[in-house]
Amino acid sequence: MNELFKTFIGLEIHVELRTLSKMFCGCINNHFGVAPNTHTCPVCLGLPGALPYPNKRAIEWTALIGLALNCKINKNSKFDRKHYFYPDLPKGYQISQYDEPLASSGWLQMSNVKLQITNKIKIRRVHLEEDTGKLVHKKVNSENVTLVDFNRSGVPLVEIVTEPDIKTPAEAKEFAQKLQKIIRFLGVSDCDMEKGSMRLEANISLAPYTVHSPSRRPLRAGGRSQITKLPDYKVEIKNINSFRFLEKAINYEIKRQSDLLSQGKTPNQETRGWSEAKNATVPQRFKETEADYRYFPEPDIPPIVFTNEEIKQFRNSIPLMPDEIEKRFRNIYKLPVHYIEVLTENKGLAIFAENALKIAKKKGLPLDKLAGEIVNKPIDFTKVSVDAFIKKFKEKGSNIITSSSELEIWITKSIEDTPNAVADYKKGKTQAISAIIGNVMKLSKGKADPSVVRKLLEEKLR
Ligand code: ZN
Ligand code: MN
Repeated sequence: MNELFKTFIGLEIHVELRTLSKMFCGCINNHFGVAPNTHTCPVCLGLPGALPYPNKRAIEWTALIGLALNCKINKNSKFDRKHYFYPDLPKGYQISQYDEPLASSGWLQMSNVKLQITNKIKIRRVHLEEDTGKLVHKKVNSENVTLVDFNRSGVPLVEIVTEPDIKTPAEAKEFAQKLQKIIRFLGVSDCDMEKGSMRLEANISLAPYTVHSPSRRPLRAGGRSQITKLPDYKVEIKNINSFRFLEKAINYEIKRQSDLLSQGKTPNQETRGWSEAKNATVPQRFKETEADYRYFPEPDIPPIVFTNEEIKQFRNSIPLMPDEIEKRFRNIYKLPVHYIEVLTENKGLAIFAENALKIAKKKGLPLDKLAGEIVNKPIDFTKVSVDAFIKKFKEKGSNIITSSSELEIWITKSIEDTPNAVADYKKGKTQAISAIIGNVMKLSKGKADPSVVRKLLEEKLR
């Protein structure tokens, strides 16, 4: 995507675990929509003399995330103190992990059919730490003040760090979305970007392509050899709270940095933020170096030691992951890509579909029709049993309408009824089509065949 420079993108992703209690105390772990400073105690307020005691479940869940990302679980790990000064951190340090994280050296295979990407992104580490309090900017007695809410202080926070293996902004977005799916399937966090239970940071740097002399090494197609050395600067973008902003911010940074480099300048090593208002990244501060944090082992918490048996148990408790379910949908049930995308959006739906498809395959029912039924008419799979669903599907099968003359009328009417969805679809939001299909299904009182409707609609809107 960039002619002159090779792009290095790495991600740091923070995820809040949904344990019942906080990381180092017994306070309730819920900071969303509750009165400020109601879930606090001397430990998470950082009062002198208070002693932290780690949350066992949070440690186990971090190990699960590590395993799901193909990491090695380290038999010996420990907590460390990471020092910095900020009003939301009353202790003056965050309990985190430095040189012995819970998990390290993993990878995640990216294979997006739509974008035609296959790339293995290495995971450097997965570690556990505590979240900080939250600053609230308010007007009190017509004065602008900043208040601190400590309900979030001490919430278990997992940090996932990739190697700079990501090649494009689109791939960064795909990676983050895939990670969200995996963690949601594990059930250890809701990964809600709006609530801040999943937060994204990106590191970006660029280096010119170097062309080796042909006498020493033959040139590859295109005349550029791979460079392995990282640039000696890196820019970190913080405060990214949506996948779309992540992609936009990285795009902006690549442009900004390549402009500087083209002028013979080196971009500053700094932390920048994404400003939606300016549609740009803006400087925040010069980045601390590791030495500024004065890391040292947390003296109040003993090291964490796992046995082989414990690690084996963690491995066994990992549920079916989205990739495996996707593979089954593709290879065993031969479903079209757009169905697979919807059906693996959440675990409940994926498992419902998998169970229904398994039975349908045995009974010789049309699988893509059945999948279409689940995709196009979102059923409450928590209330309907798979058997009841299959029974209804079989009954309906006899009077399903596939003839295009009848469908044509409903489709024309639905295109008129849903101008917003039609506009969105034409702009490239392919998912908007489900709203139009839903309208056809309503008009037909559920008798239209959704997969036929989809095909006809796609032809019509092209
Ligand atoms: Zn507490
Ligand atoms: Mn962190």
